[in-house]
Amino acid sequence: MNVTVVVNQFERVLRDQTAVQQMYINGKWVTSSSNQTREILNPANQEVIATVTEAVAEEADLAVEAAKNAFYKNGWKNVYARTRADLLLKVAEKLSERKEEFAMLETLNNGKVYADSLQDVDDAINQFQYYAGLATKPHGQTYEVPDEIQAMVVREPVGVVAQIVPWNYPLVMAAQKMSAALAAGCTVVIKPASQTPLTLIRLFEILDEVGFPAGVVNLVLGSGSVIGDVLVNHPDVDKISFTGGTDTGKQIMKDAANTVKKVGLELGGKSPNIVFADADFETAIDYALLGIFAGQGQVCSAGSRLLLEKSIYDKFVPELVARAKKIKVGPGWEEDTEMGPLISQSHMENVLNYVKIGLDEGAWLLCGGNRIVDGDLANGNYVEPTILTNTTPDMRIVQEEIFGPVLVIQVFETEEEAIELANGTDFGLAAAVFTNDGAKAQRVIRNLRAGITWINAYHPTFNEAPWSGYKQSGIGADLGTYGFEQYLLTKQINIALEVQPSGWYKG
Ligand code: NAD
Repeated sequence: MNVTVVVNQFERVLRDQTAVQQMYINGKWVTSSSNQTREILNPANQEVIATVTEAVAEEADLAVEAAKNAFYKNGWKNVYARTRADLLLKVAEKLSERKEEFAMLETLNNGKVYADSLQDVDDAINQFQYYAGLATKPHGQTYEVPDEIQAMVVREPVGVVAQIVPWNYPLVMAAQKMSAALAAGCTVVIKPASQTPLTLIRLFEILDEVGFPAGVVNLVLGSGSVIGDVLVNHPDVDKISFTGGTDTGKQIMKDAANTVKKVGLELGGKSPNIVFADADFETAIDYALLGIFAGQGQVCSAGSRLLLEKSIYDKFVPELVARAKKIKVGPGWEEDTEMGPLISQSHMENVLNYVKIGLDEGAWLLCGGNRIVDGDLANGNYVEPTILTNTTPDMRIVQEEIFGPVLVIQVFETEEEAIELANGTDFGLAAAVFTNDGAKAQRVIRNLRAGITWINAYHPTFNEAPWSGYKQSGIGADLGTYGFEQYLLTKQINIALEVQPSGWYKG
């Protein structure tokens, strides 16, 4: 199936490709005053699939001003929680009606396999439903205090929230952040990654349609260095919620310090997938592949390091390599595709460069390592599923996030060594343990410094549970009740039970 067929099949997916797509500020669709635009490419073939407006710094300021007015002057923070919940439920309903359209658009913009995109849209729908449910649930507390005072705490929204999302999950990351913030009563300015704005632009059509008041939700399109920078430094932004690379997160944390913004960071990973000799062989092989090759390895929680017990190395590795070689790589919209293209040519070059770095460091290449240039695939950013072994813990390919379909193997002999190797990077996002020994699984998991873990599985996670990184993989959590809490403040209210002077001043 080629793009033309896809477009015919899903009429509304790409629409008029000559029109410049707009951003959404203060309840209106607007084109940047600069008239600058950005072409959006399909990573499967490098074709231009859309042109979008590109904001200048002043337009990010306007969006923040609109969000501030909506929160303070126009009283979004006092809108009854049930009304906010109703709006979120309407978003979920409208997104459900357009599920296939959103999924195909995500595939055309990001390159991910269509089944993954469908899963993403399902997750986004569920996020709006989940946080609609939580909108009415914040509750305070009262305290017994040693005085004639009734002490209590109420929960209030943080205020104006700026949200910055990456290109690997364009719709889901935006939906999880926006639905939680709006449910809490915050107003939002959101910036997608410049490569992948299309599904978020369309989500804003829905937000507009269901009737969020002007200024409550704002979409600014543009680069991180210009628009992201304005949002992070803006004195009227109360909180930054960021998902992206660790280096960008560090910069954001520094910049946000100037205005003591609340900061939520979901950053990179180099996650260990530990396979003990007593693990179910088939299950461990299957999840070792899924852990790294799902989403082309462009997944923050990817199991990018396989930690293998030495005694099964000779049996496990040949089977793993044979299966990796069989993975069907192709455009995300083709039914039999198991792995799609990488997001951009420059990212593909970075990933391939890491293979070279690994080989220069002394690693051995077991499979892959090249761009795929067969037939139509030559036009896209396709990289072979790649596995490297003979590694040492200090190698760059072991320590740094490659963010592509590149698995590095590390070998261990004891449980203690497995734990030490697993924890031996600056990251702490995810980890998995494969073993049939229940006690060992628990022991190892409890010693791993990671926020998202699995026993005998890799990747399944749920909107109900918090997503958070240890170490340099982040601060705070998205999703679940923890993801809601980050948009709420606590206010202490002390009420005198006797209305009388304090008696402190004698004169
Ligand atoms: P990135 O850090 O380059 O960009 C992320 C977003 O930040 C983009 O919208 C970008 O425009 C913006 N940005 C860039 N520079 C900025 C600046 N100086 N100030 C403000 N905003 C700026 O990351 P990416 O390449 O888009 O995404 C890949 C990274 O995201 C990987 O490291 C991956 O692990 C991480 N990620 C983490 C999670 C998680 O939940 N922990 C989830 C998805 C992706």
